[in-house]
Amino acid sequence: MHDDRTLVESRLKRVLDERIRPAVYPESVPLTVGIWTAPGEPVPVAEGLAAPRSPITVGDAWGAPWGTSWLTVTGTVPQAWAGRTVEALIDLGFDANMPGFQCEGLVYRPDGTPVKGLNPQNQWVRVASPAAGGETIVLHVEAASNPVILDYHPFLPTELGDKETAGHAPQYKLARMDLAVFDQTVWQLVIDLEVLGELMAELPVESARRWEILRAVERALDTLDLQNINATATSARSELTAALSAPAAPSAHRISAIGHAHIDSAWLWPLRETVRKVARTTANMTALLEDEPEFLYAMSQAQQFAWIKEHRPEVYARVRKAVADGRFVPAGGMWVESDTNMPSSEAMARQFVYGKRFFLDEFGIENHEAWLPDTFGFTGGLPQIIRNAGSKWLLTQKISWSQVNKFPHHTFLWEGIDGTRIFTHFPPVDTYNCSMKGSEIAHAARNFKDKGVARHSLAPTGWGDGGGGTTREMVAKAARLKNIEGSATVHWERPAEFFAKAEAEYPNPPVWVGELYLELHRATLTSQAKTKQGNRRSENLLREAELWCATATLRTGAAYPYDDLDRIWKTVLLHQFHDILPGSSIAWVHREAEATYAKLADELESLIAQAQQALAGNPGERELIFNAAPHERSSVPAGGAAPAPTTPGGCTATERPEGGFTLRNGLLDITIDSDGLVTSVVDVASGRETVAPGTKANLLQLHPDFPNMWDAWDVDQFYRNTGTDLTEVDTLTASATPDRATVRIERSFNSSRVVQTLTLHAGEKRLDIDTEVDWHETEKFLKAAFPLDLHTERYAAETQFGHLYRPTHTNTSWEAAKFEACNHRFVHLDEPGWGVALVTASTYGHDVTRTVRDTDGGTTTTVRFSLLRAPRFPDPKTDQGSHHFHHALVPGATITDAVREGYRIGLPERRVTGSAETVTPLLTVDNEALVVSAVKLADDRSGDLIVRIYESNGGRTRGRLTTSFPLAGAQPCDLLERPWDGTRGDVTLVDGTVELALRPFELVTLRLSQAG
Ligand SMILES: [Zn+2]
Repeated sequence: MHDDRTLVESRLKRVLDERIRPAVYPESVPLTVGIWTAPGEPVPVAEGLAAPRSPITVGDAWGAPWGTSWLTVTGTVPQAWAGRTVEALIDLGFDANMPGFQCEGLVYRPDGTPVKGLNPQNQWVRVASPAAGGETIVLHVEAASNPVILDYHPFLPTELGDKETAGHAPQYKLARMDLAVFDQTVWQLVIDLEVLGELMAELPVESARRWEILRAVERALDTLDLQNINATATSARSELTAALSAPAAPSAHRISAIGHAHIDSAWLWPLRETVRKVARTTANMTALLEDEPEFLYAMSQAQQFAWIKEHRPEVYARVRKAVADGRFVPAGGMWVESDTNMPSSEAMARQFVYGKRFFLDEFGIENHEAWLPDTFGFTGGLPQIIRNAGSKWLLTQKISWSQVNKFPHHTFLWEGIDGTRIFTHFPPVDTYNCSMKGSEIAHAARNFKDKGVARHSLAPTGWGDGGGGTTREMVAKAARLKNIEGSATVHWERPAEFFAKAEAEYPNPPVWVGELYLELHRATLTSQAKTKQGNRRSENLLREAELWCATATLRTGAAYPYDDLDRIWKTVLLHQFHDILPGSSIAWVHREAEATYAKLADELESLIAQAQQALAGNPGERELIFNAAPHERSSVPAGGAAPAPTTPGGCTATERPEGGFTLRNGLLDITIDSDGLVTSVVDVASGRETVAPGTKANLLQLHPDFPNMWDAWDVDQFYRNTGTDLTEVDTLTASATPDRATVRIERSFNSSRVVQTLTLHAGEKRLDIDTEVDWHETEKFLKAAFPLDLHTERYAAETQFGHLYRPTHTNTSWEAAKFEACNHRFVHLDEPGWGVALVTASTYGHDVTRTVRDTDGGTTTTVRFSLLRAPRFPDPKTDQGSHHFHHALVPGATITDAVREGYRIGLPERRVTGSAETVTPLLTVDNEALVVSAVKLADDRSGDLIVRIYESNGGRTRGRLTTSFPLAGAQPCDLLERPWDGTRGDVTLVDGTVELALRPFELVTLRLSQAG
């Protein structure tokens, strides 16, 4: 037989495009349209409905960037359409390729009831089925003219990302606004042909099935009268019945589809727009659930449910009903789909606490999967947090974005730093926006790495990033893919159903140990420094506020600010969303975040001050130092307050004859050269030099930084090929008191300026480095380098509830790809018996490299902190302006020292004047390796004290917790403060104290109740 395959395939494409798809709406009449544009920010629905309209017609421009326009469309169904299905077609000027990334609308009935959302892939509103003829149609549309930020030429700098700079030029032209007859049969024919055509394209050319589909398609096309598609669609469909009903092979891959809309809680739109995006999508999805009995939909992020509850109660009522029916599934159990690299231990825990509690309180539902499809890497601390939250599964597809290495599994056990294992699935469809295209389904089946031992994968299905969700076309395609020869099978299933099946079929999955590092988006550890600092400051202040408020409540009976703390936590958690904390949102988002963090800081400072004043007593003239850290310092106990100690003194700063200064405090001898660079740091006790010979520490290095794409997200490895050492010094001065010796260095470069203060305190084996930068660079990366005289194959970087090790070499492609990585408050490097900690108050990105010196054969291991970047997309002015950073170099440090210094740098001492002589801590722990990460009152408002403790050294550790109040009970709990099953955390109450025996990095939450 002659090969006419491509001829028939081309014929299918043209006939579908030019004849069949247009025949879905064979007849139409124009709607009359009126418009009113809100003068500024979005207005309440009632106001939008009531505002006077001006006429507008198809082709007219509308919609300044970030504006809201209220459209009213009116029309009459022609009498001739009686008995037909009639839909309104509302095209606001959509680009079919950009659902969620351009204008959108929410349709209301005249009484203000929301109907459904409108987006480029969903422009229809059913108005009559069957029509009587003569109906008057009135619909209102709240249309958001969100500008396109990520355009066809992506990553070009744009001022559109903030309403303050976006201008007023209309962004869109009104396109089709019609009432139209919807021909269900032709629409079904389109889906039939799409499913078969897309499946056919994925099959091997030599397979019989491919040719059988080709011939069926040809017969169907032959059957159609191209001048009268609507009359011949039924017979064309009947030619396809056999091809559509041939069953799948027994070994076919099995896809659990779940309706979904990935909705970034902020990204290329501000938070306030996400509130409306969620309302549009959920209105759409609840409507689709009513129309499609087999369809199921999952939505993550408790925050988004809370937004609809507050702002669109009518939509929320529909969501509640669909949840109660088991068809709208709250997923993920987190407050938002947060970043996981940077949130602190406590914040990561609270993401689950607030997320799960919301679902439990609102719906009585507890889900067991962490749902993080789009997050930029996963820390080794996360498995234990997931398990402690009462969850057991993780879903993400993001690691498929890695640039270099292909992850070896799709379904596996992921083991964290403490040994907790979480059953994890990476959907092999490699997207969280599956649209049921044949290419996606075939890719999932082909790509699945666990073939032969497992058969199931999950496919989140629906338009996402900016919302949209599943369409009726996707549901119709899924129905045809249930059981069809040549394809994976597709069934709508809830995430929990998928995980249960996947776990059952795969009793011995492979194990991946340690972090799930994303080999991409490494610059999200640095971009938008002020957002990151606001987050870190809030996390620290929340720790202090909870500790001091709990102490004040138990000691003085002061009211505990449950509601304030809840609200503040939720705001902080929201801003850990995976495009806010990582610094990858538009300027508007980061401008607002900075203001929000400032407001939270004021509130938290005031809560802390009130609680401390209550504890210090009033009036009085004694000065007390409060220590919120988990370690004693300056003889002030952890979690208590005591009078200021007398410091040992003894600091000196001496000018060197060759220029520069020497700082001494009896513990460290530090040499700073005439360029203001640190050439020597000697640990006096051991005589050990910290700085590698021939090198200079605290060296600022400036690199060009123009990645190939994703400017705010990415730094590409070639950035290191060139760079400038900032050694020119403008002024160099020193000063000393017995308590401290200080050197101040001023430098200018390009249009920027740096002032650094290096401080040595009396009695402290630590060099503090404060860096003020007035930053006016473009596409540059600023690093602070510390070349250390240390030979080590690995270093420790702090993560949630512990630390993980990374190699200092690049033997394998996996190691080479980690050229920029995350730490929380410290990195620690050591040789047996002697180590160095580098501590940071607010930076996360860093790199560690090694060289061997020609001079003495020794190894120089260089740690560099990443301070600032200057990408121009999506915020063209990222990080411009003034910044302050605080780092510290701690020679001779053990891991215990590193942990202690990490807490210290974020928790400054506070001096309060009052009448009390001391404030005794509520509790003490007698082993420094057991770190108290939170002290708070129980969320159930019972008055019980909640204490979270973790083993911080990575070793087996015993210790005793003693309370300063009579202890009636110590109940191990999960993160939600529910009784823990007791299989972890060896906790025993002995003589009114708690004996603890914890495994390496083990986390335990205790509910302590007072006697009497
Ligand atoms: Zn996302």
